[in-house]
Formats: sequence, C-alpha cells, structure tokens
Amino acid sequence: MDIYSGHINKLIEQLSRLPGVGAKSAQRLAFHIINMPEEEVAGLASAMTEAKAHIKYCRECFTLTDDEICPICANPKRDHSTIMVVEHTRDMAAYEKTGKYEGVYHVLHGAISPMLGIGPADIRLKELMKRLEGDVNEVIIATNSSLEGETTAMYISRLIKPTGIKVTRIASGVPVGGDLEYIDEVTLLRALDGRTEL
Ligand code: ZN
Repeated sequence: MDIYSGHINKLIEQLSRLPGVGAKSAQRLAFHIINMPEEEVAGLASAMTEAKAHIKYCRECFTLTDDEICPICANPKRDHSTIMVVEHTRDMAAYEKTGKYEGVYHVLHGAISPMLGIGPADIRLKELMKRLEGDVNEVIIATNSSLEGETTAMYISRLIKPTGIKVTRIASGVPVGGDLEYIDEVTLLRALDGRTEL
C-alpha cells in the first residue's frame, strides 16, 4: 500500500532522479512544490521546458547559450588566440566570475574516464582540435584536478604538442578532486597565473 497518492509518488520519483537528490530530499521538494502557489509551479515547469527547448551549444566553444554564438565568443574584445579548456559550462562560469580572464573557452562537456567508459570521442575534443587550425597561441587546460581531469589534461596535451601550439596546465593550487565551481576566485586566479607549460 502506498502512503502517498499516485501523483505525489510520481513527482517524488521524478525528482529523485536528479543528481544529488536523495529519496528524502525528493520528498521534501515534492511537498514544497505542492504547497507553492499555482503560478509559481507553472513558472518553474515552464522555465524547465523553455530552457530545454531553447538552449543550444555555442558553435565555437560549445558552452550552453541562447544564441548560435555565446556572448564571450561574440565579443571582439576577448583574446581569441587564448583558449581555456574546461570540463563544464559551470567551470567556465567560475572563471568568468573572477572577471580577470580575457581569453575564450572551450567546453568539453565531460572528462575522459576509462572507469565510466567515457573516451576521447565522447567529449568535445574533435571540435577543440578543429579550432586549433585557426589562429591560436595558447591552450590553457583547466580541467579539474580529479583523476579524470588529469587524464584528460594529459591526453589533450599529447594531442596538441605536435601542432607546436603552447599548452599550459593551471597550477595545482586547486585542491585535488576539487570541482572548479566550488573554488574561490582568489584560488582560481592563482591557479591561472601559476600555470605551467606542458
Ligand atoms: Zn562560445
């Protein structure tokens, strides 16, 4: 016998599929949503479907954006010859918050992980190599300092080396296993300034 109605169960079940949401949080969220005013629930639901329907990948850097080209790639004041490679759009957002980085980005949407069966072809590496055919002076690898991030950094540097383009890796002032988005701006800038050539 189910304690909750079918509708509540369905909502709890959907919410518990989200990353980082356990059974308990899913229940709490479900009851919160049910107690929200109807128009707020409608707003939340439409924000989700609208985002899914309209957000696309920037055709240059592959970050998530509303336009064909994201505002950073479209900005002529940015240094388009310096590309910082990050795992996720949120990592790029962390560096953007510092306001000190003037180059552009490349978002891989993941990292190589033999354990999870994620290979080089599963992330946006081919697209990065294609960009390097243009006018690029430096590629800064800012993948996380997790095992996957380091594996990815090594793989990318080996790919780029033969092209003669300078490849650097952000300093390991970033705690091991630390997700870039949780690291404060000072640490991020120190990691960027202290980058070393690979
Ligand atoms: Zn872009």
